[in-house]
Amino acid sequence: MRVTLPPELQETAMLRREMIETVLGRIWASPRINEDFAAICATGGRFSGTASEKAAVELLAKRLAEAAGTPVRREAIPYRGWTRHGAGVTDARGREHPAHALGRSPSTPEGGLEAPLLDLGRGTPEQIAEAGEKVRGAILLVRHEYMIGTGHVHRRKKYETARAAGAAGFLIACNEPGMLPVTGSAGDGEPGNIPCLGLSYETGAALAAQSGSRIRLHVAGEFEAREAENLFATIPGREPELVVLSAHIDGHDLACSAIDNATGLACVLAAMEAIRDLVPGLRRGVQAAMFNIEEWALLGSAAHLRNLPSGERDKLVLNVNLDSLAGAEGLTALTSGAPGVADFIAGALAPTGLSIGTYAPFMGNSDHANFIRHGIPAFRLCAGFDAPQSNMRFLLTPADTPEKVAPHQLKLAASVAALLVLAGCAAETLPPRFGAETVRRITGG
Ligand SMILES: [Zn+2]
Repeated sequence: MRVTLPPELQETAMLRREMIETVLGRIWASPRINEDFAAICATGGRFSGTASEKAAVELLAKRLAEAAGTPVRREAIPYRGWTRHGAGVTDARGREHPAHALGRSPSTPEGGLEAPLLDLGRGTPEQIAEAGEKVRGAILLVRHEYMIGTGHVHRRKKYETARAAGAAGFLIACNEPGMLPVTGSAGDGEPGNIPCLGLSYETGAALAAQSGSRIRLHVAGEFEAREAENLFATIPGREPELVVLSAHIDGHDLACSAIDNATGLACVLAAMEAIRDLVPGLRRGVQAAMFNIEEWALLGSAAHLRNLPSGERDKLVLNVNLDSLAGAEGLTALTSGAPGVADFIAGALAPTGLSIGTYAPFMGNSDHANFIRHGIPAFRLCAGFDAPQSNMRFLLTPADTPEKVAPHQLKLAASVAALLVLAGCAAETLPPRFGAETVRRITGG
């Protein structure tokens, strides 16, 4: 596709050739990104509040300082922590099935929760509405879906609809066979939440055959006040404005959260290392932001942006958010339809002959969504968009493991991220910030 840039964005296509060659050469000639990726995966699943997450924060604080060549600032975010204990389902014939509590599930009472099971297939809000009064007091069984694509209905949406309709419990079965329980977070642990569990495809199929019968589920967990840390490294440009390059630190405990999101973290490190000596000569600076508690409804970035003095927040002019961007071929930018962003991306990559897909409808599935909510142009880079056979189908399961990610995918993703950030730092003008009305139009509320 030929792209004609509006005049005000043309400088983004004019990153100096030597600069592009330097950055791409550094990323492709070094094995460092593979080493970082392996080291991050080796810390484990990084579920917020666990020793694995703390170990990852220490590793990343050290590596980010080295990669950016500047001290790292640590920001403590208080939040309501939760520890997962056991969970399981007893079917109508008394057979036990394994299950994995969704994040922040309330515990069931002594003896478990017993209620009729109602299989609603996908479990879209329309299907839940259609089931009417049958939902009240029932344990709903719905299906997880391929998350990175058109038409995906998020687990959280299904859970909230089920809860609002009076369901007593919520089960979500993996859409991928292979005895892989699925996880994720659902409610916020406040009163009115309902017990929620992730199941394997096979357990979902076994239970579906008993729809209408009474089953029993049990889940235990513990809430306590905690703190998580976000990490920041800032390299100033000639003017105070900053482009934010972000990725989330935390993950889930079923595997080592390799695709989601060791890939994003490794790419932030590689991109910072590749551009750090170039940024001081450019118009804008770059801030690497590693956010925590993303998997808990984006808490870490939400608190960070909310707590920033408005003068500081006004300096943030673009967010490039890296989440699950290797493990499949093909990169896509989720632009939320923010004005000018798709053209900016095309222009920034044009000198290299690279191009990536863009998807405009708002997807509030990663930290870029909080930048959008503050009127800051933001996009998420991800891999495997609308490629349900790709390895991205293993997100949130025990199969999100390092061998799913090829080194060339990591390097390509880091290259695209670095070029986009650098163009953001260099461009004479960027896609404009936007007001509350545009935020409402984009986010639908
Ligand atoms: Zn993620």
